[in-house]
Amino acid sequence: MKLLVEKATIWNGSDQLIDRGSILIDGGRIQEVFNQAEAANLELPPNVERIDGTGKLAIPGLINAHTHLYSSLARGMILPNYEPHSFTQILQQLWWRLDKALDLESIRASGTVGAMEAARCGVTTLIDHHASPHAVPGSLAALRDVVCDQVGLRAAFCYEVSDRDGPEICKQGIAENKSFLSEQVGDNRLATGLFGLHAAFTLSDETLSHVAESLPSDSGVHIHVAEGPEDEQISLERYKVRIVERLRRFGLLKQTSILAHCLHIDEQEKNLIADSNAIVVHNPRSNMNNAVGSFDLAGFLDREIVVGLGTDGVGENMLSELFTASLLQKHVRQDPLAAGFPSLHALLFDNNQEITRRVFGVKLGRIAAGFTADIALVKYTSPTPITASNILGHLLFGLAVHAIRVSDLLVAGQPILKDGQFVDLDEEKIYAHAQEEATKLWQRAA
Ligand SMILES: [Zn+2]
Repeated sequence: MKLLVEKATIWNGSDQLIDRGSILIDGGRIQEVFNQAEAANLELPPNVERIDGTGKLAIPGLINAHTHLYSSLARGMILPNYEPHSFTQILQQLWWRLDKALDLESIRASGTVGAMEAARCGVTTLIDHHASPHAVPGSLAALRDVVCDQVGLRAAFCYEVSDRDGPEICKQGIAENKSFLSEQVGDNRLATGLFGLHAAFTLSDETLSHVAESLPSDSGVHIHVAEGPEDEQISLERYKVRIVERLRRFGLLKQTSILAHCLHIDEQEKNLIADSNAIVVHNPRSNMNNAVGSFDLAGFLDREIVVGLGTDGVGENMLSELFTASLLQKHVRQDPLAAGFPSLHALLFDNNQEITRRVFGVKLGRIAAGFTADIALVKYTSPTPITASNILGHLLFGLAVHAIRVSDLLVAGQPILKDGQFVDLDEEKIYAHAQEEATKLWQRAA
């Protein structure tokens, strides 16, 4: 199918902004981008489908490099006896109660609405981290079916292996990762897998050995690292070694491995990450909500570590997440120049693209010839001029602060949203079903 997005303000994701430009898409790829004069002289065959970009900003589809779709049904949930005083208590009193209550139907419902909300935020790619200890087998395929096949987004899935629920569930988690990874070879072009691990403090040496033996050579792990201070304390007490060194010893620091958070690691551990070229993902809103500490953004970027951005399940709005990353650095460092535009651009528009290149093996993140056609069209009327050099100012102080109104979303050239409506989904019915599933889920978790 050939598609032409026309008369849009096109930001290529880097250094170019075209006013009233056009994007020609063929076979899921961007064939060419035209300025207004070039577009006026285009001669196209009559079967090209046209999308009117008037009054819209075209940006590369956004990427969420660490999320938990299963948290979609936690919104508004009030659990009895919830009074956490530490990060571990937040897990015990909230997330581990919720994930134990998940069954395959609530996993499907949370994945569907989570993916739809991502689409409405202009997100075309998700890297998910899943846990459902009482519904492990088939959970990743269930997510793939709804997120990739039904909603149409691109996504990487993994199951979080942990010893926290005993040896049988741990074994099931390893098996779920292995079987999902083996199924993805040449299978669904939008889906891929990573090998999920919870966090070092719930993983014994024996389990990490099993994971290292089971990990395919071309796959990385997706793990939480030093999200709370407890993770490092337990590593030192129990294993006499810091977390990142422990992961290195098991051969788990790879250039396709994602280490989420990394708040409490030391300078030596940052050097180990830089040496191994592993990926780090920053999740500022989740960190602030859990009161677990702030992130040393400059310390990672100065070492040229690939630091991406995720939401950790706090919604899917990547522009709001980026704005919070900026605010957090400025606030903590008491420096209005902290996390300037180059650092923020690196997080969401360079490093998240590099992560997807490594994990999915596709060329994403630019509106330019040869790139995969993952594109968001956003309704945006600005009271001030828009240029390639001030675009981040518009994304943060325009779209993130007010609202991102995505009218059209393309994933590999396939329309997911058209004029603000899902092309193939009955939104009302899906949300009504999600409410039913959420009600039952909350009762089970209480
Ligand atoms: Zn997480």
